Amino acid sequence: MYKIMTPGPTQVAENVRAARSRICTNPDIDPDFVTFYKETCDLISSLLFTKNETYILNGEGILGLEAACASLTEPQDKVLVIDNGIYGKGFAEFVSIYGGKPELYHADYFHTLDIEALASYLELHHDYKYATIVHCDTPSGMLNDISQICPLLKKYGILTVVDSVSAMFGEPVHVDEFQIDLLCGGSQKAVSAPPGLTFVVVSEDAKAAMKNRKTPVASFYANLTAFFNYYEEKWFPYTMPISDIYGLRAAFDNIAADWDMLNRHAKIANATRETIKASGLKLHLKSGFSNTVTVFDVPQETTADAILKIMKEKYNIMLAGSFDELFGKVIRIGHMGTNATISNMIETFYALDKTLCELGVNLKISLPEYFLKFTY
Ligand SMILES: *Cc1c(COP(=O)(O)O)cnc(C)c1O
Repeated sequence: MYKIMTPGPTQVAENVRAARSRICTNPDIDPDFVTFYKETCDLISSLLFTKNETYILNGEGILGLEAACASLTEPQDKVLVIDNGIYGKGFAEFVSIYGGKPELYHADYFHTLDIEALASYLELHHDYKYATIVHCDTPSGMLNDISQICPLLKKYGILTVVDSVSAMFGEPVHVDEFQIDLLCGGSQKAVSAPPGLTFVVVSEDAKAAMKNRKTPVASFYANLTAFFNYYEEKWFPYTMPISDIYGLRAAFDNIAADWDMLNRHAKIANATRETIKASGLKLHLKSGFSNTVTVFDVPQETTADAILKIMKEKYNIMLAGSFDELFGKVIRIGHMGTNATISNMIETFYALDKTLCELGVNLKISLPEYFLKFTY
């Protein structure tokens, strides 16, 4: 058994695991389950500071992103795909699959999205049905300021689809204040339930756009409109994964009771970045650091594989490399949700210090000692 310090999936608390083993009712025909589902959705909405409705879907994070695009996109719709990371760019595929015309807005992969530059672009180009934006682009750890980006898009009547799967509950998300039309989350990041569920928070404007479609949604499983009347009709489009939802509810009850969650993420993330910098290692990004994940470049003396292997085999701690163009180039520490404790980080830094030393990397400070000084 390894301690997973990865940027999702994250460690799952014991009360969440226990909730998943409760005796099940029949979720298709028991109205008590429909009530439980609705209460869970309402809890999620309230934790995200919105009256917009939340729907929990039976699939991991990717299904939420696809469902948002499937439900909004009609053939030939123009969609602005904001691309300053691997997930950012990836939205173009969901748009195309459903017949839309994605237009990529490329931005630098090392800096948080420049709001002024986007504003200038939008002055000349704003004929889009919706835009997609990633809150934390996890492969690089890039954080984008959705509190400014979404209202800016909304000013031009552009609906917003936000992937905050790896940011929400580690970074502030206020759906109403930020004017987010479709917000996508997942069970296995800061929420700290096992992978398998996604949830989408849908604004009235987004609902209207879906209801006013001229063509049917080109998917059954990814069709959000199929959930719109579930409560009145006591009916779901497919059997709900009841045990997964019991677990998710326990995870959200934990979050609701955790008054210090955002502050703790900020403090741990800051101490982690300061420790990496002081040691002589190099943070991968120049700006846009998410409080849920820290990404540093693999030092030239060694390889990502060697670091990950020793961390895992000798110290029982799993860190993550990355993928696509970042494959082999960076190491990622996921300090989100239940991972985000001082003791988890001290263990991780202790092991990382020993590992790098063994691999011939000279650090200017002791990682665990520096981190500890910084957090108190
Ligand atoms: C994890 C994650 C998802 C969900 O996809 P996975 O296949 O579980 O990785 C979606 N978006 C972002 C930004 C994520 O970090």
